[in-house]
Amino acid sequence: MSDARRPQRLHIGLFGRRNAGKSSLCNALCGQDAALVSPVPGTTTDPVEKVMELAPLGPVVLLDTPGLDDAGELGAQRVARSLRALEEVDVALVVLEDQRWGAPERELAALLQEADVPFGIVCNCRDDAAEQAARRLGPEAFALPASVPLAVCRLDGAATPAGALDGVREMLVRLRPPAEEPPLLRDLLPPRGRLILVCPQDGSAPKGRLIMPQVQAIRDALDGDALCLVVTDKALGAALDSLREPPQLIVCDSQVIAAVAATAPPDVPLTTFSVLMARLKGDLPLLARGAAALHGLRPGDTVLIQEACSHHPQADDIGRVKIPRLLARLAGGELDCRLLAGRHWQDYAAAPRPRAVVHCGGCTLSRRQMTRRLVTARRADLPMTNYGMAISLAQGVLERVLSPFPEALAAYREACLDQNVRAGHA
Ligand code: SF4
Repeated sequence: MSDARRPQRLHIGLFGRRNAGKSSLCNALCGQDAALVSPVPGTTTDPVEKVMELAPLGPVVLLDTPGLDDAGELGAQRVARSLRALEEVDVALVVLEDQRWGAPERELAALLQEADVPFGIVCNCRDDAAEQAARRLGPEAFALPASVPLAVCRLDGAATPAGALDGVREMLVRLRPPAEEPPLLRDLLPPRGRLILVCPQDGSAPKGRLIMPQVQAIRDALDGDALCLVVTDKALGAALDSLREPPQLIVCDSQVIAAVAATAPPDVPLTTFSVLMARLKGDLPLLARGAAALHGLRPGDTVLIQEACSHHPQADDIGRVKIPRLLARLAGGELDCRLLAGRHWQDYAAAPRPRAVVHCGGCTLSRRQMTRRLVTARRADLPMTNYGMAISLAQGVLERVLSPFPEALAAYREACLDQNVRAGHA
């Protein structure tokens, strides 16, 4: 099996009514009984995930969701969970029992279109007559654009003959969005470029291993044939002294940026793992614009601290302690920092309205999932930045760590000007 990390896998959502055949399709694609299948409607009560290799797509996560027509109070909660799964997926399959298309499917299709999630229709036919009828249909039969693909099959869970899924596999290949991740850092260096990665190994570093952004940076440097020196913050000065020529890029952990910026020669490009990950995962200029809003914080303002997973908090936890402390210093007094953690994006409608959102690095999120969070915040007119940029800003070095990315630097400066204008009018 591929060792692709979860965020890099194609996330495929299976949606539809109860008993339309979603779990059967999940099991047919897996070739095993990953999801519980039963003729009793509503057997899937929570989204079920299956991490697998799916030929010819490669590494995927299948997300089998509860029925969209579930009833009662609990049923409504299950429907809400299904719809929340829309945030997670890169592509969706809408499974129909025969050609049954009604209000739940229409609403789902509208939500998928609004969220810009490519989707196809799978007609799970119970008998020959239904199959023949379905094969005569096109997407226009469901008032959908001609570009929406449609597949017809007879599902029987893991016992479904492999060939019966050819249409579904072809559909998924057609729906898969093109890979759009930029490189992590190798485009910032010339061939055989000299790179120093500063990876502090203090008490908050995991025992015996490097964290994922550091590992990814080393791998990307090797892919780019760079000359990569990996050191702790304490060894940076010695590393610089040991080089005949200065490095062409230094990347460090945000938490030591102040010390590294003081040690690194001023003409050497310097950035943080956090900025690199922000560019890889989302929209760096937009996050840089969001950082400018932190200059406008005043004591008592509400700030939303958003984490994409629920990890065990440490004593000096970054989201609960360090970021609120730095922001309070920036604002000149205590802030009302509210932490929200979890894979699902939270509703901003809850009062009081935050002045800004400071998001974690989102290492468990795919680029699409992170981008969706950014778009949601932008639609709500909420400036959003990330932990690393907030730390660099509070240390007075954000312009320096953005300087390898002229577009992001320009966006930050423009937003700062805008911020001053707004403050002037306040
Ligand atoms: S960066 Fe975010 S998603 Fe990754 S471990 Fe930290 S809190 Fe969790």
